[in-house]
Amino acid sequence: MPEGDTVWRAAQRLHESLAGRVLTSSDLRVPALATVDLAGITVLGVVPRGKHLLTRLGDGRTLHTHFRMDGAWHLYRPDQGWRGGPAHEIRAILQNAEWTAVGYRLPVVDLLATAREGEVVGHLGPDLLGPDWDTDEALRRLRERPQREIGDALRDQSNLAGIGNVYACETLFLEGVNPWDAVGSVVDLAAITQTARRLLMRNARRGRQTTTDDDRRPHFVYGRRGRPCYRCGTLVRSRDQGSPTRMRVTYWCPGCQPPRAAEGTIRPA
Ligand SMILES: [Zn+2]
Repeated sequence: MPEGDTVWRAAQRLHESLAGRVLTSSDLRVPALATVDLAGITVLGVVPRGKHLLTRLGDGRTLHTHFRMDGAWHLYRPDQGWRGGPAHEIRAILQNAEWTAVGYRLPVVDLLATAREGEVVGHLGPDLLGPDWDTDEALRRLRERPQREIGDALRDQSNLAGIGNVYACETLFLEGVNPWDAVGSVVDLAAITQTARRLLMRNARRGRQTTTDDDRRPHFVYGRRGRPCYRCGTLVRSRDQGSPTRMRVTYWCPGCQPPRAAEGTIRPA
């Protein structure tokens, strides 16, 4: 599943290949846009917002796409074969004289006025990889619901954008915070956002999703259910977390991330 760093890298590569160049052809394979032809229009730039990608066009419109679970953009030279998946999974093709950008399995492809981008990404919290990252605003949004579990709150893109399940689990491990603790009980919420941002920025630049500094064992807890913690040897646990529409498997080390019980309540270990 793409996280903020994956989307950021995709945007960088698309921006380098498309920005400032005139499209020679386009093919948007969603019913509402089947007759749209973007040939002759210059791409101004490609901007990531959380897991959304905004391709801004010289005619005042923006092509909005979203990766969700397994979407991807691939770039090809004119003489290269396309290898991103079967043809029926292609949702968008943007071509200029040098590059062809092919979008596979994109659940969202739409065109809107650039001035109205806020309608599709305005609900997002501050973007951890954005130039306008705002720690105070992210903390304000997180604290609006102090009873909510921190693991679930961190993955909610309306609080802060860019953290998927890998970074939620790994950040909470590094900060020693139990994923089921209430947001309001977390002592240093700012440290959690700083750690998530540091991991995302570092990995966005180098194109890996390692949180341990060791590529042979890239994650502390994510995907490691039942295996010993690298730090304390306790077996890593996992459990579903979040509302039914946003359920994810959360991983944590009970030794390094003990629950911080609120007064007068009984918490699961
Ligand atoms: Zn541990």
